[in-house]
Amino acid sequence: MFSGKVAQVRDIFIGGDNPVAVQTMYDSQIASCDVEEVLHRLRVLKSMGCDLIRFSYVSSADRENFAAICSGSPMPVVADIHFDYKMALEAIQAGADKIRINPGNIGPKWKTEEVVKAALDHSTAIRIGLNNGSLPRGREGDRPEDIMADSALEYLSWFASWGFDNTVVSLKSSDIATTISANRKLKAACDVPLHIGVTEAGGVVSSCIRSTYAFTKLFEEGIGDTMRVSITGSIEDEVHAAVEILRALGYSKGGVRIVSCPRCGRHTFDSQGFLKQVENRLLTVNKDITVAIMGCQVNGPGEAKNADVAITGIGNKVFLYYRGQLYRDVDVSVAEDSLFDLIDKI
Ligand code: SF4
Repeated sequence: MFSGKVAQVRDIFIGGDNPVAVQTMYDSQIASCDVEEVLHRLRVLKSMGCDLIRFSYVSSADRENFAAICSGSPMPVVADIHFDYKMALEAIQAGADKIRINPGNIGPKWKTEEVVKAALDHSTAIRIGLNNGSLPRGREGDRPEDIMADSALEYLSWFASWGFDNTVVSLKSSDIATTISANRKLKAACDVPLHIGVTEAGGVVSSCIRSTYAFTKLFEEGIGDTMRVSITGSIEDEVHAAVEILRALGYSKGGVRIVSCPRCGRHTFDSQGFLKQVENRLLTVNKDITVAIMGCQVNGPGEAKNADVAITGIGNKVFLYYRGQLYRDVDVSVAEDSLFDLIDKI
């Protein structure tokens, strides 16, 4: 969204005037996975607003499933490589749209060169991904943000000398201030597209707070072209959080905006349980609408009057509202289906 240069990863463009691309990282091993299950989950993630998916590519045992995932995936696939440059070569040949490497941990420079040349031959993008936890040695005493930014600039100069520029860079730390200052430093020095995020940011609450703070600061300064919210939790939550953060900061991803009451002692409908039941399904609806889930019929409809669709209830009955007007009431056992029937009609 902010960088001058643009990287192309299959049909996703990162940088320039393009919207911030949302990404997450798959949470299980490739070699032992059920490819059809993975592809189904990727389709759901895409409908929730995910633009890129990354997998850890750890050994040659991953190759067959990885190739099948690349050819069936509804979104570009990134292979995450550490230590063994041959895994990067394999992943590129198997159809990776992008690979993530840290040139500092794959050995002598010629190995990185081999990888970059293979990426050039296959039109594969590369993310140079540097984390505070895996910094190059030899600069003890320097600030981690300086080591990360300077290392990235050095690797970018290698890539340029090999004629490669389909590159994204990430500089991440679990420390927010380090993440922000490293990205500031790199942004001031070059216009490569930047993947931003606070790494190892904790559970949902911790991560959302830390990530939102960092993204707000960075976006305000024009820094950040693709993002991951790193959560010790589900990858669906990571995508949901990223989309909500973009929306809250005014970089809308569209889709369903959920309004739900906190629930108080007046509640006659289990809005918390119902939200848990329908939330992920709602997030896959491809409509720019507001859906309210309210705990009582006394204040709920009034509080939800700006929603396109609202639901609340009393005892075994739920009431559905369409743009502030009562639409119908149904038994609570069919509440979910009735809600989605109404949404379908919009
Ligand atoms: S909608 Fe009803 S249950 Fe929910 S917070 Fe408002 S008054 Fe309480």
